[in-house]
Amino acid sequence: MQAKKRFGQNFLTDKKILEDLVSLINVSNQDKFLEIGPGKGDLTENLISLCDAYFGVEVDKDLLVFLRNKFPENKKAFINGDILKLHPSKIYSSNKFRVVGNIPYNISSPILDWCEKYYEKIHDIHFMLQKEFALRCAGSEVTSSYGRLSVICNYLYEVTILKEVSKDFFNPIPKVDSLFVRFSPKKKEIDQKELSSLKQVTRALFNKKRKKISNSLEDVLQKESFNKLDLNLNLRPDELSLGEYLQISSLVKDDG
Ligand code: SAH
Repeated sequence: MQAKKRFGQNFLTDKKILEDLVSLINVSNQDKFLEIGPGKGDLTENLISLCDAYFGVEVDKDLLVFLRNKFPENKKAFINGDILKLHPSKIYSSNKFRVVGNIPYNISSPILDWCEKYYEKIHDIHFMLQKEFALRCAGSEVTSSYGRLSVICNYLYEVTILKEVSKDFFNPIPKVDSLFVRFSPKKKEIDQKELSSLKQVTRALFNKKRKKISNSLEDVLQKESFNKLDLNLNLRPDELSLGEYLQISSLVKDDG
């Protein structure tokens, strides 16, 4: 079966790497999994026998037929569709579940948005990601990868880079290297107001990435709020910590 570019198909078949990934995921027989894009089922095979429950959502109908043939005992575990349109109550009505996937890199951001939408239902997330994207998710201040995505990911999750996987292990070989990353939710539930202020502030400040924050703060705060800030206004957006972003965000709420 030819890999389909439009579905971001780069399969991972190396046995040793797959074993490493599964051991990093640390599967227990209590776990319920959702796999995004099981593809030809190589990661699936290493997971499905170890966990309590498994669902895989695969957009490619041809691969769905392949998967159902490969796992005849688990035919119902494979759902044909777009992960971005899946409501989790279709798979696990009340239980929290773990999300895994060697995901299509072209929709990494929307997939993270999907995870944010169902944050309270998700126990943790393990994704294979394009290296640069993964570094942005995990970035901390004053590193070159630090940006809006880092602040938001850092707010929601403990982000841990677990393993680098060279492009040579994928088939077909992609142009980019990959990192396997864990996202562990930091909170029980999302404070939507706080998150939306944080998004507003990070958008405004990182839009003017090279400017001192004194220039862009005006876009989100009233002037009167400036003197309530306990921070140096000469800093640039990539020098502020998550805590400092939250400090600014809390004043946006006051203003609103
Ligand atoms: N996990 C597999 C395949 C990775 S490639 C492996 O490790 O071998 C990405 C997979 O995601 C492909 O199987 C592709 O068909 C699937 N996919 C692409 N877009 C998707 C979407 N919107 N929803 C669900 N699956 C998708």
